[in-house]
Amino acid sequence: MIPRSLFALVLTASLHASPATPAVVRDPQIEKIVAEISPANIEATIRKLVSFKTRHTLSDTTSPDTGIGAARNWIKSELERASRESGGRLVVEFDAFHQPPVLPRLPAGADIVNVVATLPGTQTGAAARVYVISGHYDSRSLGTQDTDTLAPGANDDGSGTAAVMELARVMSKYQFDATIVFMTVAAEEQGLQGAGHWARTAKEKGVNVAAMFTNDIVGNTLHEDGTRDRSHVRLFAEGVPVPVSPARELPEEVLAQMRTGGENDFSTRQLARLIQTIGARYVPQMPVKIIYRRDRYLRGGDHSPFLDAGFAAVRFTEPFEVYARQHENVRVENGIQYGDLPEFVDFAYIADVARVDAAALAELANAPATPHGVELETVKLENDTTMRWEPSTEPDLAGYRIVWRDTTAAQWEHALDVPKEETRHTIKGISKDNVIFGLEAVDTAGHASPAVYPKPRRNS
Ligand SMILES: [Zn+2]
Repeated sequence: MIPRSLFALVLTASLHASPATPAVVRDPQIEKIVAEISPANIEATIRKLVSFKTRHTLSDTTSPDTGIGAARNWIKSELERASRESGGRLVVEFDAFHQPPVLPRLPAGADIVNVVATLPGTQTGAAARVYVISGHYDSRSLGTQDTDTLAPGANDDGSGTAAVMELARVMSKYQFDATIVFMTVAAEEQGLQGAGHWARTAKEKGVNVAAMFTNDIVGNTLHEDGTRDRSHVRLFAEGVPVPVSPARELPEEVLAQMRTGGENDFSTRQLARLIQTIGARYVPQMPVKIIYRRDRYLRGGDHSPFLDAGFAAVRFTEPFEVYARQHENVRVENGIQYGDLPEFVDFAYIADVARVDAAALAELANAPATPHGVELETVKLENDTTMRWEPSTEPDLAGYRIVWRDTTAAQWEHALDVPKEETRHTIKGISKDNVIFGLEAVDTAGHASPAVYPKPRRNS
């Protein structure tokens, strides 16, 4: 057993028939996807989005070249072009609905349209598992109800919209075991209505949304003091799943996990660990800084309704936000340029964030589902640890990976692979009292699922 940081030194890449320390496996398809993401495409998309003058949710829907209607028609046509160029597997559609009045941001209600592009999974047993990546294409100026003032929204959220569209273009040329939904949504600025509608509908229909990423404000690298910071991207990841809307008491299974010190190991944190690990593997120039928090103070994002629906969901955001360029009218005042203009957007930085998204999505959508029924045996007092789980039914399963770390460590520090025939394994000499364990499922190409925190099992 060696620390995970040394994995790169281990040259054997295959899973062994007996328990073994896993090697890092690099997937050439993920490397190709990462290389194909184009900053020039992202720039062209953002400049086109800005050209619609405003993409306010309540703005004009009839003009061919200004307002939210023109913007969504253009986004749809671009995604349809990507679909044609990749053999027609990307299914592009409007998700249109009428939102009744919601105070304070939509006092008269609105017809809201998301643009959704679905790349169906190709592996039986995995295709019903869905990964969602989203950005919001609506924009706003200073007034929340101001539908006419210039609202370029180059960064908020032209950056996330362009990233999602570029991922759809690149990734639709490839096949993945599970389904990926590339989504650009409206009415984020009117109370997260577009994403909320999609998330609630998915929950009602019983869709297995295994993870959701929102990319919102991922393009500024220029501090107010004039310095640049391209050193990382922030990933907001909630710890304990605490629904905000509607507020409700924590279910017993959440409380039970917290009673054994598992408050940092719910599904969104496990997702964040995977994104950080995979990002470091394929996009080392863009480290992921995980923030243990649902979102920034005073702000919200489209991952929130997914969290409230019970799905694992995270938010990507640039390292440093400049508020003079968000939700502002375009103007110069006291020598300061206000407004969300494309000249303040770092297209190469967005491309690197999109590469992290792409690598993590590709890993997740090719990996097996997270293992089920994962338990730690707590039958007697002992200094060994025995973990057990239900067998995975995925056809390309290679085995399972037991991971562990100090209780105060943020990332997994150790790992041990066990073959797929095993559904119970004893880790000798390591006490479950002193570390946190998890279990991942691994496929024959080396893709690993997020880890699952084991429940204590009292009887053997
Ligand atoms: Zn936003």
